[in-house]
Amino acid sequence: MANLPHRNFVLPALVYAFTEDPLPDSPHLEHTISAPVEFSGIGLHSGAAVTMRVLPASAGSGVVFRRTDLDNFEIAATGRNVARVSYATSLMRQGVLISTTEHLLSALLGMGIDNVIVELDNLELPILDGSALPYTLAFRRAGLKAQRRRRQYLRILKDVEVREGGKFIGVYPGQGYSVSYSIDFPAPIGRQSCRVDLATTAYERDIAPARTFGWREDEQKLRDMGLIRGATEESVIVLTRDGVQNGPLRFQDECARHKVLDLIGDLALAGHHILGHVIAERAGHAMHTALVSRLLRDRSAWQLVTLDAEKPHPVPVPAPRLVPA
Ligand SMILES: [Zn+2]
Repeated sequence: MANLPHRNFVLPALVYAFTEDPLPDSPHLEHTISAPVEFSGIGLHSGAAVTMRVLPASAGSGVVFRRTDLDNFEIAATGRNVARVSYATSLMRQGVLISTTEHLLSALLGMGIDNVIVELDNLELPILDGSALPYTLAFRRAGLKAQRRRRQYLRILKDVEVREGGKFIGVYPGQGYSVSYSIDFPAPIGRQSCRVDLATTAYERDIAPARTFGWREDEQKLRDMGLIRGATEESVIVLTRDGVQNGPLRFQDECARHKVLDLIGDLALAGHHILGHVIAERAGHAMHTALVSRLLRDRSAWQLVTLDAEKPHPVPVPAPRLVPA
């Protein structure tokens, strides 16, 4: 944990310098990273020590996880491989698990990185500082590389919704990709909402730094259940009825921003950038991934298209490579 940012880490001016760099010239082409990047830490839920390497990958290959401790067993980051989902999103294939994928997948999608291999030597991704900032900083340092293939977008053609009690999530046709999230938690959070348009929002500045949060009063119960073996004050915002125990917050509405971060990561399991609007109210990982499954199953709800900076209209992809979950 020695390489993690201090818990009172305030965004340095350097971050803004990075995020003000122009995006790649070819925003509608697929991208990978220019050089491998390594992270080590512990998993939030398992407490297991893990070293993870993110490697450049060829166009059209997507995000593929590789368990180096299990003969390089591979699991693609797609809706087909979503496993049981409670406190985090996990992927499973043939009984092999990759856990807590959402922050890394969010960083990759938020930065427009389509193709990488993610090697890890244990079952859970490192929680790092509880946000996606360590990822975005490292990828920006490594550099992004445009590839010779047009990115395929999943363009929403009709409304798809999932409701459960007072919880709700839906995706709707629209230009660009926007995400709105409303939460209603006990004090000190209360009601917060956050709306971002990924075409215009600086993901790296406004969303990536938002950290995971939890309540002190739930801590013992969750520890007893073995669900937060790796939680520390360096990786989770700890809330009490009186306020934030390990402040300061990075944003006044950091919790709502973190929910947006998680949602972007979970929706990345659709396998493509979405063209449409997503609205979520008091949802969580299970509902995020339920929406992905429902969306992929309904072939009348979307089409794959490519975009061209010169021509504003989406061009349908003739032979979709996506297989519904
Ligand atoms: Zn999260």
